[in-house]
Amino acid sequence: MIPTTVAGSLPKPDWLAEPEKLWAAWRLEGAELIEGQQKAALAWIRAQEEAGIDIVSDGEQFRRHFVHGFLEQIEGIDWQRMTTMGIRNDRYDAQVPTVTGAVRRPRPVHVASAQFCRANTDKLLKFTLPGPMTICDTIADAHYGSRPEMAMAFAELLNAEARELEAAGVDVIQFDEPAFNAFTEEAATWGVETLNRSIEGLSCTTAVHICYGYGIQENIDWKKGLGKEWRQYEAFFPALNESRIDQVSLECAHSHVPLSLIGLLKDKEVLVGAIDVASTEVETPEEVAATLRAAMEFVDPERIVACTNCGLAPLPGAVAEGKLKALGAGAALLRKELGGN
Ligand code: ZN
Repeated sequence: MIPTTVAGSLPKPDWLAEPEKLWAAWRLEGAELIEGQQKAALAWIRAQEEAGIDIVSDGEQFRRHFVHGFLEQIEGIDWQRMTTMGIRNDRYDAQVPTVTGAVRRPRPVHVASAQFCRANTDKLLKFTLPGPMTICDTIADAHYGSRPEMAMAFAELLNAEARELEAAGVDVIQFDEPAFNAFTEEAATWGVETLNRSIEGLSCTTAVHICYGYGIQENIDWKKGLGKEWRQYEAFFPALNESRIDQVSLECAHSHVPLSLIGLLKDKEVLVGAIDVASTEVETPEEVAATLRAAMEFVDPERIVACTNCGLAPLPGAVAEGKLKALGAGAALLRKELGGN
């Protein structure tokens, strides 16, 4: 009962990329880069195992950016044609590449990385991919002329990638859809439709991570304007509950999301975020257990997976390690209290 996992990213060591910075450039190249990524992923897998994390991830050590890491290998995208675009419904501007033709995945993107991780742990393995809606909100379109149409084209590529990740022995495939919170109506319609297309034919566990973003200033400012109660989830949780996705990952630690909204996901497993990613203060196991216990008012313990609010990438490595340990210990505390193991 109450297994533990992470939402996705973990900090990169300073010899691999500049630390405490999102999407920092690599400090190695060629074969050295691949070796370095493997070494970093392996170190985080061991750290997760030691912290008592049941479903481990590569900590996204193989990619610079959670969306562009996938897109870099996709044809139909012009990386010389960078467009400044207001993303997450104009929350912030970003320089993004432009889709100039039909998108195509000429070869697997993350499969070799997943195979490496699979060969190096006996734990259940999670791998994350960007969701179709979030991809479309992180890239400019000069070809499709319709976001839902472009999202469906990406969903097909993601599905092909996911099938190969599953074949490589990945147990949980998670799609990151932070854009769902910015486009709540669209999330309920083509957001969920393209998510369903992305997981078509998979028999492994599937998850979607929705969040209020990394602890960067733009997100902190945006959150200030959301009012006392964050009810964005309410608009699309009913549609998400109807979807074929198995798990939904949410931020619950220090969040203004009324936990009662989780009650709308009555047919899903809920990855309860019990670790704040916007603070360097390491939670105590008791605090983690308290967040999980609060969620239990709306979700049966059998459907709860203890998780982080979001990725831990922007934090110092030692803080992230401390937070992983707190997560493992907090879940263990609650399991003991519930009489399980
Ligand atoms: Zn997130």
